[in-house]
Parts: sequence; structure tokens; C-alpha cells
Amino acid sequence: MTTTRTADAPPQHKQELTVVQHATCTFCGCVCDDIELRANHERIVETKRACFLGEAWFKHHTAERLYPDALIDGRPASYDEAVEVAAEILYSANMPLVYGLSNTTCEAQREAVWLAELVGGVIDSHTSL
Ligand code: SF4
Repeated sequence: MTTTRTADAPPQHKQELTVVQHATCTFCGCVCDDIELRANHERIVETKRACFLGEAWFKHHTAERLYPDALIDGRPASYDEAVEVAAEILYSANMPLVYGLSNTTCEAQREAVWLAELVGGVIDSHTSL
């Protein structure tokens, strides 16, 4: 993914935009990875090569920080604290289940499989329901 800045924007966005080349859409299983995005400081305002669903998905994402990095028992926590607690939970579990991954990039899925193997767990996706 390549990011550049440009003032070449549609008339309704007369401000400097960040251009992201080769962005990956994880809305559906196609995981298109050739999407071009243009964003102002907090919102994606234009997509190229995304289908109708992908365009809607991208345009509803913002760069606003709506949530803390992590939660532990519903309380905001740092990333490092959350990783430590997650590792303790996985280590003490009898049969950890790594589940979901439908909106996850190939790289993240690869890490999830590695983690499941490391902790002697199993992996499944939402398609088994
Ligand atoms: S751009 Fe469309 S087809 Fe491609 S991953 Fe996103 S939703 Fe799926």
C-alpha cells in the first residue's frame, strides 16, 4: 500500500487529500487488493476500483478514535496490557478457539493460524454456523 498527498481533489473536497494505492477491501471474501482511496483528515471521500459494496464499506470508515486501543473486562486498557491478558487466557485454556476472520486480511489470517498452532487450539470461521 502506497500513500501520497494531493491537492487534486473533487470540487466538494477543496483540501489536501491522502491517496492510498493498493488498499485492501475486506468486506467480502474476494478481498480485492487494488483499491485506490482518497481521504481527508478523517474520512475516505473517494474510491477507485471498489465495487458498490466495497465503496460503501470504505466510505463509512473514519479515522476518528471512537474506541480505546483495547478493553479488559470492559475497562479501557493499553495494547501491552491487553496482549498480556490475552496471552494468559490462551495459555490457561484447554482448547482455545480462534474464530471469525471473515473481515480479516490474508496476513492477519496467517497470524491467526500460527497462533492457533502455537497454543494447541483450533481454528474456525463463521461459515461453519
Ligand atoms: S471491493 Fe467489492 S468485491 Fe472487492 S472485496 Fe470489497 S466488497 Fe468484495
